[in-house]
Amino acid sequence: MIWVMFLILFFMGATVFSFINVLIYRVPRKMPFGMERSICPTCGNILKSYDLVPILSFMVLGGKCRNCKSKISWRYPLIELLGGILAILCFWNENLLFVDMKLFFVQGTLYFLLLAILTAIAFVDIDTMEIPNGFNIAIFVLGVVSIFVFPELTMLERVIGIFSVSVPMTLISLLVLGAFGGGDIKMMAAVGLFLGWKLCLLSWFLAILVGGAYGIYLLAAKKKGKKDHFAFGPFLCVGCMVALFWGEQILNWYFASFYSF
Ligand SMILES: [Zn+2]
Repeated sequence: MIWVMFLILFFMGATVFSFINVLIYRVPRKMPFGMERSICPTCGNILKSYDLVPILSFMVLGGKCRNCKSKISWRYPLIELLGGILAILCFWNENLLFVDMKLFFVQGTLYFLLLAILTAIAFVDIDTMEIPNGFNIAIFVLGVVSIFVFPELTMLERVIGIFSVSVPMTLISLLVLGAFGGGDIKMMAAVGLFLGWKLCLLSWFLAILVGGAYGIYLLAAKKKGKKDHFAFGPFLCVGCMVALFWGEQILNWYFASFYSF
């Protein structure tokens, strides 16, 4: 039974993330993302509903437009696959399912929506080096909802969370001009409200660790100079995702090994 549920969850997650694909494409271009039908960006052909089945349509079409045979980016099915996997991870809480089914679905859905927006932010930031305000406002709204859905995280932890990363990021940006973008800072304030200060700080440290390694690689491989910038948002988003799923374990492991010395 549980596997049927996970299969349905996977498909629903992939479907939601195929809408995230639409947002990633349309939001930076200031296109309406509500009702308009999806078209092939090369030939303008309106896509049929059977061409919009997540992952499967891409495989059936061999990664090419049905009409003009131009290549469809691998990013679309990969983001849909990510959505399916994240949906399963968000609802991977069988104990709660049998204790309180309503809470199980509400909590899983809220986590999933946060991850969906973080994914949109990561790819829009890769494409445009900017994080649209609307996404940060959406995270903030989810943060307000999470106050009621995850009451075990206190209001104090959340309020500290709003400032725990955004303030140091602002200070660093004042010292080193352009170290972090305003969008990154606003995003981490909203994430802090949702996750609280511990997981928010952890997200930031993880992002600096991975993003720093990537920066050193770019310098070493001479792909970018010292003055160049790369989008830091995607690293923050990955940091938040890891902190959301495994943050408590990472912190417990870290402090357990710290105090054993
Ligand atoms: Zn086409």
